[in-house]
Amino acid sequence: MEHEIKKDVEKKSGLSKGELQKLLERWQKKLFLTEWDLKIQIVDFLRKDFRQSGNFVADLDKKTGVIQLSCNPFRDEEYILVHEMMHVVVWSLDSYAENAILKNHKEGDKVHGWYLEHLERMVDKLTAIALGREEKKYA
Ligand SMILES: [Zn+2]
Repeated sequence: MEHEIKKDVEKKSGLSKGELQKLLERWQKKLFLTEWDLKIQIVDFLRKDFRQSGNFVADLDKKTGVIQLSCNPFRDEEYILVHEMMHVVVWSLDSYAENAILKNHKEGDKVHGWYLEHLERMVDKLTAIALGREEKKYA
């Protein structure tokens, strides 16, 4: 589902774009994503239903991706960055599986919802492992 966002926002709280760029380069090596051309974009997620920290847009064939991070972060930004990068790690599996599901299910139905929720849990688990942090608790 596409939500409107404001792109390339200049003013940002928390880490600077340069600091995030350094973290991106470090984590590209750690996550074996050096063949990817990844860029950081600071955005304002305008959606009101949900406080969003990050998003990513990737092209698997070209191995390019844009990691969108909130200009107004409210959680650990390295965690958010690594979380979005972990989506790139699992992207081929994820996009193939989601496309297969959407052939037989409507977007947002029970099966698709289950898939998205469990994808997020797995990405969070992998992110916690990579960062050596405690696992996020789900209700
Ligand atoms: Zn995610």
